[in-house]
Amino acid sequence: MTDLGLPTLRSAGAHAGVGGARLVGVTGRPDTPLLVDRFGRVARDLRVSVTEKCSLRCTYCMPAEGLPPIARSELLTAAEIARLIGLGARDLGLREVRFTGGEPLMRHDLAEIVALSKAAAPGIRIALTTNGIGLDKRIGELVDAGLDRVNVSLDTVNRDHFAALTRRDRLPAVLAGIRAAADAGLTPLKVNAVMMRQTLAGAPELLAWALAEGVWLRFIEQMPLDADRTWLRDNMVTAEELLAVLRERFDLEEVGREDPSAPAEEWLVDGGPLTVGIIASVTRSFCADCDRTRITAEGTVRSCLFGDDETDLKQVLRGGGSDEELAALWRGAMWTKQAGHGMDAATFAPPTRTMGAIGG
Ligand code: SAM
Ligand code: SF4
Repeated sequence: MTDLGLPTLRSAGAHAGVGGARLVGVTGRPDTPLLVDRFGRVARDLRVSVTEKCSLRCTYCMPAEGLPPIARSELLTAAEIARLIGLGARDLGLREVRFTGGEPLMRHDLAEIVALSKAAAPGIRIALTTNGIGLDKRIGELVDAGLDRVNVSLDTVNRDHFAALTRRDRLPAVLAGIRAAADAGLTPLKVNAVMMRQTLAGAPELLAWALAEGVWLRFIEQMPLDADRTWLRDNMVTAEELLAVLRERFDLEEVGREDPSAPAEEWLVDGGPLTVGIIASVTRSFCADCDRTRITAEGTVRSCLFGDDETDLKQVLRGGGSDEELAALWRGAMWTKQAGHGMDAATFAPPTRTMGAIGG
């Protein structure tokens, strides 16, 4: 039986105390508007999950039946999301927002979410992480609304392997979405592939496809965030193992990270100009440089993918709370961010929420 229960929720009342913003119980926090934590990190990059629904059922993410539905009234509205993004950009130092899920294209008002967010925070970069299904039909309205970047997730270009991994035979639809995004000028287009044992032998073929299409491929180590709880440290494909397989076909030269907080380490392929990235979240954790903050589809702040503490902003948003109160809660939530995820340790316990319920 899959456990998808909700994690510990920190209510606004318990966190803010009487009088709101200035009384947030976070001892030792320096007097800065930024989203700092106890380890000196500053969150600049916001992930907003906009739905739990999805058109695929990737085995490393969702259960076969999909996630339990969230009542529509519990989802943040486009206006509520935009208000939080405006506040984050103006008062908390956020520079980039990425919409994710579930599958964000399942939200029919996604273009409205983008447009309202851009209006509320004109200087912020707006990105989307999507499985690409239906993107060919929506890309025009999204670009018009102010979308700056797209990452598409694609683990294999073998149609049978794709159908087995995602439990849906939709590879042609994903490829159509990728082409449409590139045609719309959202380049360089990033494609993310989770490294799985079933698709490891096909990794060189995926890289060859990416080089031919001119897209920027990044492989990601599988994290223990699947709903079926089948992740095993001993069975996951590590960055080292993937590199060995890719090197059977390509010459790879390490070039490092784009910037210290970029999760991917880059490798120049066959002398360039294109590179391939590897996000070794498990075996080469980058928690020390993490600059992320997350908002779930139901309007709670999560400081980390791992760790079940959440702080409810929706209650304050809907209760007529001020921007100062929301900002204080958000800052307090980030101040107590944990040092790291500990995925590589024997004592590691996965969080209650799974990837599709947090927003990757
Ligand atoms: N549905 C969209 C998509 O697939 O791009 C957005 C949501 S999805 C949860 C975001 C990213 O998380 C995808 O790139 C997906 O491959 C990745 N992901 C999902 N489960 C994962 C896991 N267990 N380990 C590593 N990455 C995972
Ligand atoms: Fe859906 Fe994305 Fe999870 Fe796959 S990884 S099941 S596309 S949310």
